[in-house]
Amino acid sequence: MCGIIGIYSHQPVAEDIYNSLIYLQHRGQDAAGIITCQQRFDVKHGLGLVQEIFNDRDVLAMQGNIGIGHTRYPTAGGNQLSDVQPIWLGSPRGIALAHNGNLTNYQALHRTLIHNQHRHLNTSTDSELLLHLLSDALHTTVDVHNDGAIFFSELCDAVQSVFNQAEGSYSVVSVVMGKGLLAFRDPHGIRPLVIGVREDPDGQKDYVLASETTMFYALGFRSMGDVKPGEVVFINQSGQLFRQLIQSKTFSPCIFEYVYFARPDSILDEVNVYRARMRMGENLARRWKEKYPDLLPDVVIPVPFTSNTAAMSFAHALGVRYSEGLYKNPFIGRTFIMSGGKKRSQQVRYKLTPQHIEIKNKKVLLLDDSIVRGTTSREIVTMMREFNAQSVYFASACPPLISPCLYGIDIPSSKELISANYTIDEMREHLNVDALLFQDEGDLVEAVTRKGNHQIKSPCMACMNGRYITGNIDQLKIKQLEENRQRCRGEVCVS
Ligand code: AMP
Repeated sequence: MCGIIGIYSHQPVAEDIYNSLIYLQHRGQDAAGIITCQQRFDVKHGLGLVQEIFNDRDVLAMQGNIGIGHTRYPTAGGNQLSDVQPIWLGSPRGIALAHNGNLTNYQALHRTLIHNQHRHLNTSTDSELLLHLLSDALHTTVDVHNDGAIFFSELCDAVQSVFNQAEGSYSVVSVVMGKGLLAFRDPHGIRPLVIGVREDPDGQKDYVLASETTMFYALGFRSMGDVKPGEVVFINQSGQLFRQLIQSKTFSPCIFEYVYFARPDSILDEVNVYRARMRMGENLARRWKEKYPDLLPDVVIPVPFTSNTAAMSFAHALGVRYSEGLYKNPFIGRTFIMSGGKKRSQQVRYKLTPQHIEIKNKKVLLLDDSIVRGTTSREIVTMMREFNAQSVYFASACPPLISPCLYGIDIPSSKELISANYTIDEMREHLNVDALLFQDEGDLVEAVTRKGNHQIKSPCMACMNGRYITGNIDQLKIKQLEENRQRCRGEVCVS
């Protein structure tokens, strides 16, 4: 899970990139970096939150009108300073890259680069492999003396070569020194990538490419929609925009972006995330009424903040009160850096404080966007019981999560996923709730796809149904990738 940003501007770009990273902070809170480009790359990386890493002096010192940035929550590779993106190579010309996604053939590509090509890889991230693949392909296909449409066509050949080799998910922004800003999205379009434009009073155009639209309004950009699956976008040094669809497969954007990951003010693949969450709550309420016609809660309490939107429409559909019965401390920071069940459950208590008056003697329905390991839900239910709720019901806006995400969301090994190991009745008992309801898979798809001028037919829901859309994924591969991820987390290694 990561946030990426690339900007081509007629002004120095570092400040805009910095501000954009603040708007992408929710996509990765472990590390961040910026690379800007003039005659050389100016680079600043750090571990932690964006505001902890950069100060005014750093940002003002970074030169150049083209730049890229990254916020990182590792799902592949380690979490050392050397793993922080964007990363760069000196050849051809100088090329820098930031990536959101996960390659599923990391091991095979890694072996080839190390053993056949005798490369040194400085990180344990799949993003570095992508950079090498792109750099190699540029060497082969591009004449750096070319410009305009010819150069762009050569660039497309280079990206095609990356598509031929990389398996998994990848949305990428990249700078080719002295040439321009490049971006591409994998042929299934698993991870999001949007494009925007702004015009200065002289009619000159700046462009932004980003994981989400969140920073567009503040920075004065207007949306031009999405980079399409399998599309290459390039803005050359003189500001000409080139776009070409070079390969597309079944369009399968990750549905979990809508459930949990993206900010609600984003529009991804022509679907408004906020409205999709409203529809998730509405659909879930319909099922609740069908399944539990006699269980009407007094209050619906969201587990803040992601589930607020779905809880609001759920409460509205049931005709009961939406209640902020759990107050979230906004200064608690990154709870998920603490691994292990006990610490996670402790963190829930630091993070969330129940409001006595909203709970005591009430039939409380808790609504969360998802139940992953079950640790959070179990702890919150205990808190509701401690505050003397009369009954506690639980509803999840997401269907049961039964398989790990191999495409860049931190949904862990099936061993850790509560829904992969318990039946619904067992979960109800384990969580100690009086009634439990998960979103239906079809209802979730309906909620995401009901409105908007989108092309989504079959979103990626591998974490919910085990169908990995990129192919070449069998049980052995899942096991290998899970083990690798586990090693990385074992605070050994983990884009
Ligand atoms: P758990 O205790 O593992 O069941 O965590 C469920 C909570 O984690 C829910 O409130 C979700 O909002 C949140 N969540 C879902 N996916 C992730 C993720 N990939 N990383 C961190 N938190 C998540």
